[in-house]
Amino acid sequence: VHDNADLAALVRTIPDFPKPGIFFRDVSTLLLDGKGFRAAIDRLIDTFDPDAVDLIAGIEARGFIVASALSYALAKGKIMLRKAGKLPGAAIGVDYVLEYGTDRIEMHVGAVSPGARVLLVDDLIATGGTALAGVKLLRGEGAVVSQARFLVDLPDLGGAARLADAGVASGALLV
Ligand code: IMP
Repeated sequence: VHDNADLAALVRTIPDFPKPGIFFRDVSTLLLDGKGFRAAIDRLIDTFDPDAVDLIAGIEARGFIVASALSYALAKGKIMLRKAGKLPGAAIGVDYVLEYGTDRIEMHVGAVSPGARVLLVDDLIATGGTALAGVKLLRGEGAVVSQARFLVDLPDLGGAARLADAGVASGALLV
């Protein structure tokens, strides 16, 4: 029912958000469509081998929605990679550079066992800075991160290529 063109049509583009000149790809309209979201998750699952994944890591906040759906469908555990200061337990973090300023993501110490194979997911990859910070954080705790998936890739911004340079094969439903 839903081919990729249908799914692409469910993601809207909002000009000048969060600042003038930026075209924000908004997945909230895809999330509103129950069958569309299920089709998107099913299609994403078809792009990797679940047997090669021990845990799914989602990046706050929209990445949690994708990670949660995959986690439920595949009965895999999930890891929350959170913005700074949100985790209640002992946490470690990685700072990363944004266009203006820096940001930080954190995870609980002990969330992954050394050698755990983690699939990193988020709603969208642009420059790849956020995803690379997630890879660094997970690898720092001993995880094996060789795969990442996104609903949307903005390839002109080079994120997938940067992930590939870091040894992470990425994929997205909508490019
Ligand atoms: P990157 O670090 O430049 O790859 O940006 C990706 C991160 O910023 C992800 O966590 C996205 O959720 C968010 N992001 C950047 N641009 C967009 C957009 O156009 N729509 C939705 N999220 C975006």
